[in-house]
Amino acid sequence: MIRYCCDLCHRELDPEEDLRYVVKMEVYAAFDPTAVDEAGDERNHLQEIQDILEQLEDADSDQIGADVYRQLRFDLCPECHGKFVKNPLGRETAKLFNFSQN
Ligand SMILES: [Zn+2]
Repeated sequence: MIRYCCDLCHRELDPEEDLRYVVKMEVYAAFDPTAVDEAGDERNHLQEIQDILEQLEDADSDQIGADVYRQLRFDLCPECHGKFVKNPLGRETAKLFNFSQN
């Protein structure tokens, strides 16, 4: 049997007692049409992304690929799911972290 752990608090989830939540995120580089006009570049940017992705297949480079497109998946326990939906981007935590760094 597959055992799941919460990706936030690392608690092991009991399949019989705990409800497991799956979070899927899709992050990709957005090309702003306005910026394209200003640059006078009429090139089709979907085609450009396609080119980049094809280059990635050739170059086998994970780093550039993650910059352009990334799909993430997390398993969460009910408690962490509750926290996540209230603050999906972890804004408060990020703010505190920045302050403590300066
Ligand atoms: Zn958790």
